[in-house]
Amino acid sequence: MRTIRHWIDGKPAIGDSPRTAPVWNPATGVQQAEVALAGVADVDAAVRAAAAAFVTWGRSSLSARTKVLFAFRELVNTHTQELAEIISDEHGKVVSDARGEVQRGLEVIEFACGVPTLLKGDYSDEVSAGVDVFSFRQPLGVCAGITPFNFPAMVPMWMHPVAIACGNTFVLKPSERDPGASMLVAELWAEAGLPDGVFNVVHGDRVAVDALLDHEAVAAVSFVGSTPIARYVHERATAGGKRVQALGGAKNHAVVLPDAPIAYTSDHLVAAAFGSAGERCMAISAAVAVGSAADELVAAVSEKARAVKVGPGREAGNEMGPIVTAAARDRIVGLIGTGEAQGATLAVDGRGLRIPGHEDGFFVGPTVIDDVTTDMDVYREEIFGPVLTVVRAGSVDEAIALINANPYGNGTAVFTTSGEAARRFQRGVNVGMIGINVPIPVPMAYYSFGGWKDSLFGSSHVHGPEGVAFYTRAKVVTARWPRVEPGAGSASGSTFHFPTAT
Ligand code: NAD
Repeated sequence: MRTIRHWIDGKPAIGDSPRTAPVWNPATGVQQAEVALAGVADVDAAVRAAAAAFVTWGRSSLSARTKVLFAFRELVNTHTQELAEIISDEHGKVVSDARGEVQRGLEVIEFACGVPTLLKGDYSDEVSAGVDVFSFRQPLGVCAGITPFNFPAMVPMWMHPVAIACGNTFVLKPSERDPGASMLVAELWAEAGLPDGVFNVVHGDRVAVDALLDHEAVAAVSFVGSTPIARYVHERATAGGKRVQALGGAKNHAVVLPDAPIAYTSDHLVAAAFGSAGERCMAISAAVAVGSAADELVAAVSEKARAVKVGPGREAGNEMGPIVTAAARDRIVGLIGTGEAQGATLAVDGRGLRIPGHEDGFFVGPTVIDDVTTDMDVYREEIFGPVLTVVRAGSVDEAIALINANPYGNGTAVFTTSGEAARRFQRGVNVGMIGINVPIPVPMAYYSFGGWKDSLFGSSHVHGPEGVAFYTRAKVVTARWPRVEPGAGSASGSTFHFPTAT
């Protein structure tokens, strides 16, 4: 059995811990590798390597860093297909979708290539007699990233290119369910000329996470995953004095108003609900059909859901792959059952889907559940599978109130031809990322990504300007260069009252 190892100080490392976890191929249901699970000593080795590398990298010039980033950008670009195939084999998503995630990661690298501009400070000339003030930002030190299974390349790339461009060193703890992409990324960083120890990967579970959260040499923690773990990571790491951004789960609503064009809306809803088998933090999970939109919408969405091509991610033409693990599949199937038991209508039932030749794969077909109410488990739980629930509302204001009553606030969308309704919606919802006739409004890399409420703990969103602010801290210098004439005495202007400008 192939063993996926850690990457510490510029090379693969097996580590001291004997623990491992299986890595499945979700399309076949067969274990394809095992991944080493780091113990406390392995995490310590990675953090020490990162701390040692920071001594030099933290002082390196912007030109030196930019050179490595541009080289890394080229290498990720030329290895897109290889990365996408690793992702597809371990996660299950179709290769075209995996290429899309690499592309969105590349865009963050491109943003980070602009680090000389991003780190420009401010300068105020002559704020007082002979006094200037200027500011600049410096890196934090060792930063840790803990990431989920659903975007094994893109979500880590929300973090490490920006952190490293800002002069930090990095320890990544990717999901143990699909760890392979991170190893290729580590090799590409090395090939790009990144010094040993600046980027490290430790695989593992809670043991590795706790070791990172508690390590005194870790200055900042970026986490993306489910809400209970995000809350836990935020509490534990902030208690240890670290800077923390912890992005949690989601329940994204798409509001469909009666004036929305149904063909366009249903096409986009189906892609947003079932793309990547619904395993996206920005997937649309609840359609809120307003007024007369409901029946026509359910009919159109159901017809298109039945037509989605489901199969192994590696086979061209498939639109949706399997679920990541058998346990995740069983949970999704169980939740669909609760919807039925609690009185919802199964318009399309994806349970029991069999893919010829892949009978042991972890497949669930697209599922549409109508007549859902907010007290049902299928509404309250984050399903994280190919399930679109349909809730009905009487007006756009009722839809906004429904969204605001939900504990999550990651993404949302409205489908309408009314600018007035769209504007009321964008101003009224307590959600971080909003789409207007755009179902998955993932911000471009030069904006920042993050939700509200239980979808984010901490104050910084990732990448974009907030990412740069998160991975640096500011210094403000107030400077005077007095002209001292020989024999001029002691008229320095010094006083005992609190300094004020003159
Ligand atoms: P998860 O919370 O199970 O795991 C995330 C990370 O935490 C992994 O690295 C995992 O090893 C670690 N972890 C798991 N259990 C832990 C524990 N008890 N203690 C410490 N660490 C632990 O999430 P997942 O299933 O890998 O990913 C899916 C979740 O991530 C969904 O809830 C999804 O909405 C969320 N997500 C959110 C965003 C966002 O931007 N808000 C983006 C992607 C995914």
